[in-house]
Amino acid sequence: MQIAGCGKEWVLTDMEQNTPIIELKGVGEKTQKLFQKLGIETVGDLLASCPRDYEIFREPVRINRLTPGEICSVCAAVAGIPNEKKVRKLSILNVNVSDGTGTLQLTFFNMSFLKKALKQGAFYVFRGTVQSRGNQFVMEQPRYFSPEEYKRQTDSLIPKYSLTKGLTNQAFRKAVRQALVQYRFPEEYYPEKLLADCGLISVSQALEAIHFPADTQSLTQARKRLVFDEFFSFLYLLRQNRSFSEGLPNQYRMFETADTVRFLEQLPFPLTRAQKKVWQEIRDDLSSPRCMNRLVQGDVGSGKTILALLALLMTAANGFQGALMAPTEVLAAQHYETVCGYVEKFGLSFRPVLLVGSMTAREKREVCEKISSGEANLIIGTHALIQSKVTYHSLALVVTDEQHRFGVHQREALAEKGKSPHILVMSATPIPRTLAIILYGDLHISVVDELPADRLPIKNCVVNTSYRPRAYKFIAGQVKEGRQAYVVCPQVEEGELEELENVVDYAEKLKGALPADIQVAYLHGKMRPADKNRIMEEFAAHTIDVLVSTTVIEVGINVPNATVMMVENAERFGLAQLHQLRGRVGRGEHQSYCIFVSAQEKPETMERLEVLNHSNDGFYIASEDLKLRGPGDLFGIRQSGAFSFRMGDIYTDASVLAQASAALDKLLTSDPGLNCPEHGKLRRHLEETAANQVDFRTI
Ligand code: ADP
Ligand code: MG
Repeated sequence: MQIAGCGKEWVLTDMEQNTPIIELKGVGEKTQKLFQKLGIETVGDLLASCPRDYEIFREPVRINRLTPGEICSVCAAVAGIPNEKKVRKLSILNVNVSDGTGTLQLTFFNMSFLKKALKQGAFYVFRGTVQSRGNQFVMEQPRYFSPEEYKRQTDSLIPKYSLTKGLTNQAFRKAVRQALVQYRFPEEYYPEKLLADCGLISVSQALEAIHFPADTQSLTQARKRLVFDEFFSFLYLLRQNRSFSEGLPNQYRMFETADTVRFLEQLPFPLTRAQKKVWQEIRDDLSSPRCMNRLVQGDVGSGKTILALLALLMTAANGFQGALMAPTEVLAAQHYETVCGYVEKFGLSFRPVLLVGSMTAREKREVCEKISSGEANLIIGTHALIQSKVTYHSLALVVTDEQHRFGVHQREALAEKGKSPHILVMSATPIPRTLAIILYGDLHISVVDELPADRLPIKNCVVNTSYRPRAYKFIAGQVKEGRQAYVVCPQVEEGELEELENVVDYAEKLKGALPADIQVAYLHGKMRPADKNRIMEEFAAHTIDVLVSTTVIEVGINVPNATVMMVENAERFGLAQLHQLRGRVGRGEHQSYCIFVSAQEKPETMERLEVLNHSNDGFYIASEDLKLRGPGDLFGIRQSGAFSFRMGDIYTDASVLAQASAALDKLLTSDPGLNCPEHGKLRRHLEETAANQVDFRTI
């Protein structure tokens, strides 16, 4: 067999899934260390590290046809002597190139050698993001090729891997190529009929094509197979989870007491119709003969917290313990304070404690004693509540707020801690009903499909980058009135060449653009947990006015005083995710605003973003997102949130998800335990993947 771009016949040698990558030809200790930084230890890991995107080197574009914001290639001649400026330690090299239709200015940083390397009058292909400055087009730090070199690569799909400093894309590709040569692929595990019915290629073909696609069609097929695999094993786990949970009897039968009724009477607002309906469903569960396993789905701001508190209060009033798990320590602390406030004001029968990782060993010990003696009846914290060695006195209900799913492992871990508690999962991830039924197949679903009537709708705008100065002025104005703002930038991978805004640089630039007395700070996923916590706390306490962040703030923070959400490179996000981000504002009494900045002015991009402008309904937005995404967006836009698959995207790949679900159901109907000999390979494969499945996700 041949691999595109390799050109050599290859010999099969016996490398297994678990062979360390150092045994690959061409991978030495140094490269091994770099791969380890990316979590890649074995040949299996390497092949599973699929490209995060592909680049296609299209025919060069004429300079007078360039579109700002896009990555383009131009074939042009060096039109003058490069001009070098030194700013402190930075060398800035400017050079004009032209192709007869216009001139383009190139800017290179710290690449002084190009003064000599770029020959005046000679043609090169320059590739980079085009920007317009005044009436001139510029390209910063473009890559450059000789025309022949470029021609050789034209129209081929070049994979782009997630890299780390010191590891180039080329080195990555080389290692993958070698792995494909030396790897002994496992036998196909799906029955032939399933492959044919679902139109799937074999796993070995898929792995080859995902790394070295011959064309877009084979890439699409490869991706479909791998996404199908991912969904299929996820759904298999879900089915197991369902059978496990469905068999659980209610060991904590509860009765409604006066506590919840009184609490509702004391609240400054009546429950919405939707809240009432869901509260009824929860009450019914808690008093039924079966253990509760329920998801409460509702848009941000629909008032899910009250429902959680009501369930926890009913639990406490029945003499049991309840736990509330939040996605971040800051949010856990906020919930704890809210509850303490209610206890004081309304005399609720909660005896709450907070248990988070950052507490001292002694504090933790004291809290744990209260938990095991039963002195505490409401335990608030992060997922450490389940994972650590906490002994509960009578844990009857676990509520998770955002992002935490319970897999079989977690359910079993909980069961080991005592009996099986009721489970209530709260989620704001807007998922159309058809998808929710599949993805939450192990849970009963309640929907809070209504917002409290007194909400001021958020004002939105979709703009291009030239709007930035006005946006900054607007933010400064809001800060002056005592409000706070978020600016969200996409995550930047090391080595990524595109013009994406990076939080650290961005925060620096923003400091310069805003009045000096405005406090700007940044937050990203790679910071130490303690630092992340500190920044979120400071923002919540309003010592920080403007927080520049990646999407880590998506669900981890609740600051009603924040009224502006500005999202940079909004075109890189899925609409459902942008809607989630928007949910960070509009949580208080003040008018809130969302500014979606797009670096791309393509009509399709703007049309997609405009959906946010017209609707505030997460479910509608998510379904529009499904419709408006084209095949070209398969790799570029990633949703994060409750369902982060390695490759699959529940929105883009909704049809594959439905297909995998149907195929699995059919298979399990004919052979529930996968005990037939022809299903043995599949069963072993699914068991293996299940063992590696991580059920928890934290930010
Ligand atoms: P989410 O569903 O996003 O978790 P929260 O539970 O945080 O929403 O509620 C958002 C805000 O709405 C809170 O300040 C809460 O007190 C308030 N709220 C909840 N229910 C109602 C209601 N029925 N009427 C008015 N305000 C409500
Ligand atoms: Mg909430």
